[in-house]
Amino acid sequence: MRLLLFGAPGVGKGTQAKLLSSKFNIPHISTGDILRQAVKEGTELGKKAQEIMSRGDLVPDEIMIGIIKYRLNKSDCDSGFILDGFPRTEEQARELDNLLDEMNLTGIKLIHIFADEEEIVKRLNNRRACKECGSIFTLSEINGKDSCPNCNAKDSFYLRDDDKEEVIRKRMEIFRKTTEPVLKYYEKKGKVYVVDGLGSIQDVHNKILKSVNA
Ligand SMILES: [Zn+2]
Repeated sequence: MRLLLFGAPGVGKGTQAKLLSSKFNIPHISTGDILRQAVKEGTELGKKAQEIMSRGDLVPDEIMIGIIKYRLNKSDCDSGFILDGFPRTEEQARELDNLLDEMNLTGIKLIHIFADEEEIVKRLNNRRACKECGSIFTLSEINGKDSCPNCNAKDSFYLRDDDKEEVIRKRMEIFRKTTEPVLKYYEKKGKVYVVDGLGSIQDVHNKILKSVNA
């Protein structure tokens, strides 16, 4: 199972990645994480990336692809992987294709967890976090309560910046603009599986399994 996981902010992509990872016993590879890992391990590419980032520049594709290659070559990727956060441009998609060809890795599928923007805004705007323990609740879960069900802190609920409407809309717009060309690229190759991101976590998980015939 070799998957590219896409989803707008707020569709629960991270949660779904975790479920898929444990279901198929394959690693969830977030490009942010492996980049940090490479820097920490002090690999040749990690050192280069660090130098570039310390200047405030973006890590070039060539280095990013090298770091992904290094990661995909590890034995825990033998039965597959979930790649998250890459590719972000059509050029990166082409380079990833070349890498996968070179490594003889076939059958990659792109899962796009999709949800209507208005629904996402509504959903996130309906969340409250506890400033003491960080737990997240829906308004209906804490309706009439003045203390956190998890840690009992009093009057600790607040709307996180990330859940505010204007922030969500801005992040979604960036997501749409950057991923559209990538989605088109994979659509042309018939590799995109769109999954409805509304519904319970388990529902969405089941829909993903169904769409990839697992
Ligand atoms: Zn709490």
